[in-house]
Amino acid sequence: MSIQKILIIDDSAVQANYLRSILEDDYQVTVVHTGKEGLEQAMSGEYSLVLLDVIMPDMDGFSLLREMQESIVTKYIPVIMITSLSDTYSEERGLVLGAVDYIAKPFHPMIVKARVNTHIKLYQYRLQIQRQALVDELTGVANRRQYDNYSAVKWQEAVRLGKPISICMFDIDLFKLYNDTYGHPAGDKVIAAVAGAVDSRLQRVTDFFARYGGEEFVALILGDDSRQAFDHMKRIRQQIEELRMPHRATKTGWVTVSIGGVTISPKSGDDYNSYLMMADAMLYDAKRYGRNMVVWSNGKNEQWREK
Ligand code: GH3
Ligand code: MG
Ligand code: MG
Repeated sequence: MSIQKILIIDDSAVQANYLRSILEDDYQVTVVHTGKEGLEQAMSGEYSLVLLDVIMPDMDGFSLLREMQESIVTKYIPVIMITSLSDTYSEERGLVLGAVDYIAKPFHPMIVKARVNTHIKLYQYRLQIQRQALVDELTGVANRRQYDNYSAVKWQEAVRLGKPISICMFDIDLFKLYNDTYGHPAGDKVIAAVAGAVDSRLQRVTDFFARYGGEEFVALILGDDSRQAFDHMKRIRQQIEELRMPHRATKTGWVTVSIGGVTISPKSGDDYNSYLMMADAMLYDAKRYGRNMVVWSNGKNEQWREK
């Protein structure tokens, strides 16, 4: 694990430097002395933990905590409040506002360290779980859940920017026969190899690629017109064939994919799902016309077919 970053927000330089000296052997520590600077730093999203003094002249710790809770970037960063020993009111208020813990002055270095270590571990664990919930384990690409979230966002983005969006469906050809012939574990390797090859061809920030389920994948491409998207998919189809993974049952003798898709410039009120169904219909046609083929719709009743 790379070195984690801690942010100390405390108007007292003496106190902040003392905390820093306790933690700097194990962490990369940044110190700021005002709430305003603290919030700016926290918003960078780089920190795994914030140590926050309650009493500061410009913006007190509570206001800062409240602001951190309101932004998705900072909402989950653990905040430990620094309070004085006698001040149970501050402790309670901080915890109610979402602080994960408090440290009372005067500090005991080992206790500070132990609490910080614990909360950073929990935060890392949380991030890991969050990542896993969105990534398909076999292939390492986005999973269905992430696709479900993302497709709506991408669709809205296309509407707002007035840009074309392409919905592309991929399905490995005669894959049931592949499993029957070579076994399920070999089939898993093929699914991962196909995902990796397609993913490597969809690396622009505006591209999105996910495992849709089983041996099916989906891609969303923003900005390309129909012809560009169709040509790009033809290259991807060819590249899968050129992986030369033996598959006795197909026409070529290699693992191949069929691809169906549609490119549209959506207007507000257009229904994403009806276009997804169109992409699926194109995929169905690619299978019907003989597989290992790209079939495309330009969204205006015109169909393009490879070969
Ligand atoms: P077509 O060319 O028409 O797509 O034929 P197909 O055999 O690929 O189509 P079908 O949808 O009938 O079969 C898909 C097969 O994919 C069936 C299933 O056993 C296999 N499959 C789905 N998920 C996995 C997986 O995670 N691992 C493996 N090894 N096989 C899978
Ligand atoms: Mg299928
Ligand atoms: Mg299939």
